[in-house]
Amino acid sequence: MLLEMKDVSVSYGKVSAVRNLSLNVPEGGIVTIIGGNGAGKTSTLRAMSGMVPLVGGEISFRGERIDGLTSDKIVAKGIAHVPEGRRIFPDMTVEENLRTGAFLRRDKAAVETDLESVFTRFPRLKERRRQMAKTMSGGEQQMLAIGRALMSAPKLLLMDEPSMGLAPVIVEEIAVIIEEINAQGLSVVLVEQNAELALELADHAYVLEAGNLALEGPADELHGNEHVRAAYLGI
Ligand code: ATP
Repeated sequence: MLLEMKDVSVSYGKVSAVRNLSLNVPEGGIVTIIGGNGAGKTSTLRAMSGMVPLVGGEISFRGERIDGLTSDKIVAKGIAHVPEGRRIFPDMTVEENLRTGAFLRRDKAAVETDLESVFTRFPRLKERRRQMAKTMSGGEQQMLAIGRALMSAPKLLLMDEPSMGLAPVIVEEIAVIIEEINAQGLSVVLVEQNAELALELADHAYVLEAGNLALEGPADELHGNEHVRAAYLGI
């Protein structure tokens, strides 16, 4: 297993966000975490990337415990987080934003190669490399956020609601990008409120409900199950 979460709980003060969640991400897989507002999806991702402490449980990445490590140490181990709402730096150029993704890397030549491959994958970012990030459209900013995460040379990409606020045609573009990135060997954890999209992309799905695991299974089984569709997915 690339990443294993065992009995993980996350709280914000007295507010319990995730309770006793166990979840596995296989090497090369796309795993999705779906559920409604406040189900604990973002908190689960934040636990994986060291942005919130665990109140219980453990997380291992490539056989090594990572819970308790700081976020920068977790990035260095190969986990990159594309946060909800993109969180790009608005007053920096596209290229500067991308370079921040590589801030921990010492392999300067490889960073330049990776920058070129991000530009090849996202030609729009290349055209706009000297433009302020805040002048980009929502879809372009999402691509920038993904590109920035790729600049850390990750093995696992955590994506929090990449489809949020984007037009259907752009969502489709992002979906293709996720598939391509995965086909090239990168594993993905995808958090989505758009369950239909998530289940199309993922191999395996976890459904959260008010901080608890409601069910899990192969994405195509969940997608095809009428009861599941009506009860949990609203599709
Ligand atoms: P959404 O899709 O709305 O982002 P989510 O499934 O990602 O929802 P979380 O954001 O993980 O859910 O929230 C889980 C619970 O934790 C909710 O009850 C939420 O109100 C609470 N919560 C999240 N962040 C904080 C915070 N910084 N401080 C206090 N409570 C929080």
